[in-house]
Amino acid sequence: MSGTLTVVGLGPGDPRYLTPEADAALTSAHALYGYGPYLDRVPQRAGQTRLASDNREERGRAVAALDRAAEGARVAIVSGGDPGVFAMAAAVCEAIETGPEAWRALDVAFVPGITAMLAVAARIGAPLGHDFCALSLSDNLKPWELIERRLDAAAGAGFVIALYNPVSRARPWQFGNALALLGRHLPPATPVVFGRAVGRPDECVEVMTLDAADGKNADMATLVIVGSRETRVITRPGKSPLVYTPRAAVEVNA
Ligand code: SAH
Repeated sequence: MSGTLTVVGLGPGDPRYLTPEADAALTSAHALYGYGPYLDRVPQRAGQTRLASDNREERGRAVAALDRAAEGARVAIVSGGDPGVFAMAAAVCEAIETGPEAWRALDVAFVPGITAMLAVAARIGAPLGHDFCALSLSDNLKPWELIERRLDAAAGAGFVIALYNPVSRARPWQFGNALALLGRHLPPATPVVFGRAVGRPDECVEVMTLDAADGKNADMATLVIVGSRETRVITRPGKSPLVYTPRAAVEVNA
């Protein structure tokens, strides 16, 4: 029997956001690999083994899952959101590129999931309605100077910016610095959306202005969307505001 490896996106948390394709891949797997809290979201099935590993052990997890698939098992490796967005899909590709030749003969598939920025955007309107980009603020895998350069370029070019991994225990100051840097390009009233634990019971979505936002508004489970000069807020009586970026850009950004 030849093994398979499927890299599965679980979506942001709510089981309604798990696609039927992802559900089928999870159901038919012999072995599941992933970060513990993500595996906890997958219902237990008889005869299926699960191997939880720590958040930072993506490379080791990819190697273990590929080894198991090479032995002939049907293996699923899970990510929150979409596996191709700051997650396991690239770790699996990196392991295949540098690993044994036999791994290139494996059937490998990638099952998309709803990524955090889309789930957060859908809660609040259409902040990603025009050109946008996504950055991870984590400096585990790249230097902070590079992150600052990309923030400068993105804000200077007028993109709405989705920020993944804004804060962690090891990185208490970076997010505040990132906001200060963006404030050099953007007006103080630029809308900033904080979407925390979207799709989970403790979900919370807030809109602030850039000058009022600070590092304390975000944690590891928060996705932040910083608007562009075009992003607008529609206030509504008795209802939460809508944040949107019009489909047409009216001016060339300074
Ligand atoms: N692959 C994931 C992203 C992994 S990086 C995806 O596609 O969503 C981890 C970061 O994603 C977190 O620090 C946070 O910024 C964001 N995130 C993941 N799940 C989230 C959720 N339910 N609500 C808000 N942000 C989330």
